[in-house]
Amino acid sequence: MTLDNGPISSRLLELQTMDKRIRETRDRIESYDPLLEEVEAPAVRLAEDVGVTEKRVRDLRLEERRLRLAAEEKQARVHRLEDRLNLVRTVREEAAVQAELGLVRRALDQEEQEVVNLLDQISRFEERLEDQQSEMEEARSAVGPRRDELLAERELARAEVNSLKARREEFAAAIDPRYLRAYDHLAQGGRRVAVTAMTEDGACGACFSVIPLQLQNEVRTRAPLIRCEACGVIVTSPVAPAESESPSLRRADAPA
Ligand SMILES: [Zn+2]
Repeated sequence: MTLDNGPISSRLLELQTMDKRIRETRDRIESYDPLLEEVEAPAVRLAEDVGVTEKRVRDLRLEERRLRLAAEEKQARVHRLEDRLNLVRTVREEAAVQAELGLVRRALDQEEQEVVNLLDQISRFEERLEDQQSEMEEARSAVGPRRDELLAERELARAEVNSLKARREEFAAAIDPRYLRAYDHLAQGGRRVAVTAMTEDGACGACFSVIPLQLQNEVRTRAPLIRCEACGVIVTSPVAPAESESPSLRRADAPA
């Protein structure tokens, strides 16, 4: 009599084992994220330093350009004032032009000095940038092999999930849709256990509540869709010791 529900119980249980493996492999894929982050962290930090120094150099160059333009403009003013000196007619006029010329020249000197200082700073920051860039390259090539290894392992795990999923779909297609729907509904509700075999003494294999005698008989003899009244999982007929071995499970799935 258990021939009727023997296959369905082992099928559902095997489906559950497949889903568990898919879940575990997915978890394994996710576990690579923190590992990769950790491996890449030093190079990422150095890249941030490089970014900060690059910005500093850009800002200094902008400032240098601004000062250079201002200095050029003052230089032109100095020339104009010098031309005017040749045209003055009174001593007072000459004194006024000289005074202005003095002011503009001092300002010009100051700006030219600032440009020199800036060029100094720029070359210091450019040196630092070069050092930081080579440090970053070094860190990147040092972590490269380990990173590639982790990425390759993750790719393998992804391929494994895909083939497990394909096998699962094929396997599920051969299961009575009523059972499959009930199972999927329970499994998708986030339960780790959606189906369990009844124990030899008639208890739910998941929560160990004793199943009423009449239902026990139905589980053992007919193969109806019976769910544990206490925890809601699908209860199948007890799995015989030989059947719980994976090879016999496969034999049980094979079409009669
Ligand atoms: Zn239960």
